[in-house]
Order: sequence, then C-alpha cells, then structure tokens
Amino acid sequence: MSVHGTEESNVTTPTSANPVDVLIVGGGIGGLSAAFALAREGLRVRVLEQAREFGEVGAGLQIAPNCTRILHDYGLLEEAKGLGVLPKSMVMRDAVDGSELTRLDLGDLEREYGFPYMVIHRSDLHGIFLRACRRAGVDLVTDAHVTGYENTPSGARVLLEDGRADRARVVIAADGLHSVARRLLVEDEPVSSAYVAYRAAVPIEQAGRDVDLSEVSVHVGPRCHFVHYGLRGGEMLNQVAVFQSPKALAGEEDWGTPDELDAAFTATCPDVRAGIPLMWRDRWWRMFDRDPITTWVDGNIALLGDAAHPPLQYMAQGAVMAIEDGWVLAGHVAARRAEDGSVDWRGALAAYEAVRPEHCRRVVETARAWGELWHLDGVARLQRNALLRARDTYDYSFTAWIYGPTALTPEEEPPMFTPIPLDSADVSGVPEPAGTR
Ligand SMILES: Cc1cc2nc3c(=O)[nH]c(=O)nc-3n(C[C@H](O)[C@H](O)[C@H](O)COP(=O)(O)OP(=O)(O)OC[C@H]3O[C@@H](n4cnc5c(N)ncnc54)[C@H](O)[C@@H]3O)c2cc1C
Repeated sequence: MSVHGTEESNVTTPTSANPVDVLIVGGGIGGLSAAFALAREGLRVRVLEQAREFGEVGAGLQIAPNCTRILHDYGLLEEAKGLGVLPKSMVMRDAVDGSELTRLDLGDLEREYGFPYMVIHRSDLHGIFLRACRRAGVDLVTDAHVTGYENTPSGARVLLEDGRADRARVVIAADGLHSVARRLLVEDEPVSSAYVAYRAAVPIEQAGRDVDLSEVSVHVGPRCHFVHYGLRGGEMLNQVAVFQSPKALAGEEDWGTPDELDAAFTATCPDVRAGIPLMWRDRWWRMFDRDPITTWVDGNIALLGDAAHPPLQYMAQGAVMAIEDGWVLAGHVAARRAEDGSVDWRGALAAYEAVRPEHCRRVVETARAWGELWHLDGVARLQRNALLRARDTYDYSFTAWIYGPTALTPEEEPPMFTPIPLDSADVSGVPEPAGTR
C-alpha cells in the first residue's frame, strides 16, 4: 500500500548520495531518540525533518522512571540530571479549595523503581538526543517534508514535497499527531477532547509568589486543572493550565482563546489563580488524541511515537512512550542482527508490533479516564477526593504497570491496576463545598 504521490516517475533527486539502513521521518523526541537507539546498534540512520531547524516548541516535560531507566541505558541520564530537576514529591490538590488529595514521595518512588522521576525542559531533552545522534553519526536532514510512503521489494521509499525522494531497508514514521504515514494503516482522524492547554516557562523571579519547587504540583478541578514545577535546576517555573472550552462544545471554530482561560479558572483557589496571569497568551495547544490501533507496521514502514499513539497528556507519558518505542525496536534489532550486520527486519518489526500497541493502548485509554477523574464536579468530585485521600502515599499498586521496566515482549507486560469504583466512596453527609455545581 502507498500514500499519495509516490510514483517512480516523480522521483528525481535523492536527499543524499549515501544510502542508509533506516530512514526516520520526524525529528521530534520520538524520531531522534529512535535514531540514536538504532545508530548505537551500528545501523546507518537518517532523520528527515520538515522544519528548518531541529527543535521543540513548548515548556516542561515530566519523565517517569520508565523513561529515566532508558536514559540510563543510553548513557544519557547524568546529562539529563544536570539539565533537569529531581523533585521530592508530586502532590495532587483540589483546585477549588486547595486541600491536599494524595501525594507520591518521589525519593521513595526512585527506591521502588530504581530510577528517578524527573522534570526537564523539552528543548533540553530534545537537545540531549540531538547531540547524541550527532555523536553516533546519524545523518540529520532538515527542510525535508515527506508527503508519500511506499513499500518496495527491497525496503521502503519516501517522497518529499519538493520532489526529492529517499529509500532505505526500513522507514520509521515518527511524524506526530497528524502523521501522513498513519494513513497507510487506518483512516482515522485526531479526536478532539474540547480541552485546551496553556503553557508558561518563566524565570523563577517572575513567579510573583512563593512556589515550592521541590514539588510537582497538580491542582484538579471542575473542567480544569493546573500543573506547576521547576525547570533548569530551579531557575525556571513551568506551568500548564488546562480547561474545557465552552466554545469547542458549542461547535465554534475559534475555541480555547484567552478569554476562556480567564473564565475557566475564576472559581479556583488563590494559589491557582495567582499562576494564571503568567500563562503565555499568544499560543495554546488544543488537546487531541486518537483511538488506539493495534497495527503499526505496513511491510517495511512502521509508526512510532505520537504517529502511532498520541495520548491526552494526563499520564505524562506521550514523550516517554515514544522513547520506549525506539528502545524496544532497537532491542529487537540487536537480537536479530547477524554477524555480517544484516538484520531480520521482518522479525524485529513483528516483535515491536507484538508488544508496543497494547502497552500504548493502555496508556491512551487510562489517560482519557484519568483526565475525566481530574475534571469531575459535584458529588462525583467529592467521591474522587475521598478515594484519593484514602490512598496510602506508599501504595504503588497504581503505578507498577507503568513505571516498571519497559516490556520487550507481551509476556513481560505487567498486569494493569484494578480501578476503584467512584461510587464505593460514601460521601453522604459531606457538605458539597462552595464553587461546585
Ligand atoms: C500540554 C502537553 C503536555 C505534555 N506533557 C508531557 C509530559 O509531561 N511527559 C510526556 O512524556 N509527554 C508529554 N506530552 C506529550 C509529548 O509532548 C508528545 O507525546 C511527544 O512530544 C511526541 O513526540 P513525537 O516525536 O512522537 O512527535 P512530535 O513531537 O509531534 O514530533 C514530530 C516531528 O515530526 C515532524 N514532522 C511531522 N510531519 C512531517 C513530515 N510530513 N515530514 C517530515 N517531518 C515531519 C515535525 O516537525 C516534528 O518535528 C505533553 C503534551 C502536551 C500537549
């Protein structure tokens, strides 16, 4: 199968005279980390990125132990630690009354899983992979907008918007939420959640209030939430404000605008309201995911990262899953590399596809459910609060399925947690606090 415009006759100029084993489309965190993982196994790798320069727009990223474990394996954890922050705790509070609901002791979490929970500027993490790719000899090509994909008898081919083309034994499409390659496998569209994210990463002096940067702080409220944590050794404050857009629900085109931001947080506690004026107001991120798919491989073309499994961000696992994808694929390549350097790609891609789609389905679906729980109102909000307050700080039964070692095979995939039904919390007699419906 092919996606548009890949007729042989169109193909004139190659992107490079040097052939490679693997072409990776997309130089985001997913594409670069996969490029590094495969180059480190001795493969010749080229990344084709549509932008003029490699880079990342946005602010902070949380990276859980299932990611820092991989950074350690890559020899990149110390560099990341030098650029990021290792917070002491993650605290969830009610956004309306500010009361604490539950917390993770991140020092103990590191002891439990062997690797730290880190927060890092996404451009710093991207830069770590970019430098690692350069050191590993990855060919990094910018201004390369891929519009078509096609399997060939000996590999796969991509066509670029400007008429250039390239080919390799295998093509990995890490081209994000609006992936062109995904159309090889499924005719679907991004699913709008009607929520929008505002971000800000500012020097800590601009915080305008006392902020405890030893915490990752999450305030959850009716149809909104607010996250903040420190970046760059505490020199910067990172904030994310997310809310449901009434204009999106009404079907209006122009949704998620700054007037909606201000309105969404009026009933929140003073700590949250104090953060809203710092949010960047010239750009915002409408929140989309896609329904999970189980097939990621079409012949010699495979999806990776958001192209395969874009999540809503409530689990903070989107970039983490992308990094895991590359690590798993490279692991299977290493296991199927003959002494002459040839790779049993069919076997490697099948092994990748046997394990990653199911793990990522779990994360994408849990992120949807977790987001719904965060944004509850009325009695359901009281029930959620009661259940979260009852959780023991050192109970890891809800995190074991995700923060443990990344599974290389379906057998290694840990079991999921058992959800606690909301209505098991008895909140009769608890007065409904002001500020809710
Ligand atoms: C508000 C918010 C907060 C988040 N917080 C976290 C968090 O705390 N932790 C976490 O792990 N994740 C988080 N995520 C998710 C994370 O940002 C993404 O899952 C991750 O960046 C996906 O990486 P990717 O490389 O797969 O895709 P992308 O980052 O989208 O990269 C795709 C790349 O491909 C290029 N490209 C696209 N099309 C083409 C083409 N046709 N030809 C050539 N190049 C192309 C693009 O220019 C881009 O460089 C968050 C997301 C949001 C919106």
